[in-house]
Amino acid sequence: MLTGIHFLLTYTCTWECDHCFLFCSPRAEGTFTLARLRETLDDARKIPSLEWVYFEGGEPTLYYPLLVEGVRLARERGFRTGVVTNAYWAAGVEDAKLWLAPFVELGLEDLSLSDDAFHHDGEVTPGSVALAAARSLGLPACAICIERPVMERTGERGEPVVGGGSMLRGRAVEKLTDGLPTRPAGELTSCPHEDLEHPARVHLDPFGHVHLCQGLSLGNFLQTPLSVLVSSYDAAEHPVCGPLVRGGPDALAKEYGVDIGDRFVDECHYCYLVRKALRERFPDLLTPPQVYGREPNGKG
Ligand code: SF4
Ligand code: SF4
Repeated sequence: MLTGIHFLLTYTCTWECDHCFLFCSPRAEGTFTLARLRETLDDARKIPSLEWVYFEGGEPTLYYPLLVEGVRLARERGFRTGVVTNAYWAAGVEDAKLWLAPFVELGLEDLSLSDDAFHHDGEVTPGSVALAAARSLGLPACAICIERPVMERTGERGEPVVGGGSMLRGRAVEKLTDGLPTRPAGELTSCPHEDLEHPARVHLDPFGHVHLCQGLSLGNFLQTPLSVLVSSYDAAEHPVCGPLVRGGPDALAKEYGVDIGDRFVDECHYCYLVRKALRERFPDLLTPPQVYGREPNGKG
């Protein structure tokens, strides 16, 4: 039952974090227009279970007026709203309050602030400044702290358990997997983080892709309305989700004869690399190319 949609308002970001699922950076392209936001929100009202609308990116506050208007449009249509930001704009508490005050008036219910070593290495971080500003305004807010993946402990069956909170998808696979312990591919037989059969939330990008997981599309809402895509979705019939539901990334690799190695750090590491290898076979479902490391100019 879908309860939340998350607008990837833009792929552009002030930063270029090693752990970014989406390969966001100052060079990444793709931003919603106001008309597209409005049309999508209008159609989203036809999904009875939908309660929450989030705005994230990239860095959504790079398009601040569009972000504020997006929250207003979502509230006008009866949705609860949230924003995820890296808080690069929080130069001081007084300044941060200027950025946050409009969201208080609009009744924003969840402000998530990135606040970890990936995003800033100073003692006083923008995330902590923004959190103080939000609290002084009475705006519900929390910090998101992610650490580099590390070998944490040995599991019950002797397998290595990698901790730290970073998921190994997107740029994280290319930047953060070196030196981590691995497991046999044949053990990676489920998707541990997304309910692909009954997704509770999806991410919508400016190109129309409806992401079940980053770079794994349910369909394109510019071609078929989101409400229709959601009501007609059947994971078993989806060429990529079907195998993932049946047996995780190992089943996906075996069903399509993808041979890219026999040991991986975890399910997402394996899944991302198998999906990357299948991109040409399913260009409309394993997309957009930039989420698999292609630069907008075609390089990479
Ligand atoms: S993780 Fe967040 S702050 Fe870092 S590049 Fe990606 S979108 Fe930007
Ligand atoms: S296993 Fe694949 S689909 Fe599941 S959360 Fe990891 S990357 Fe996403």
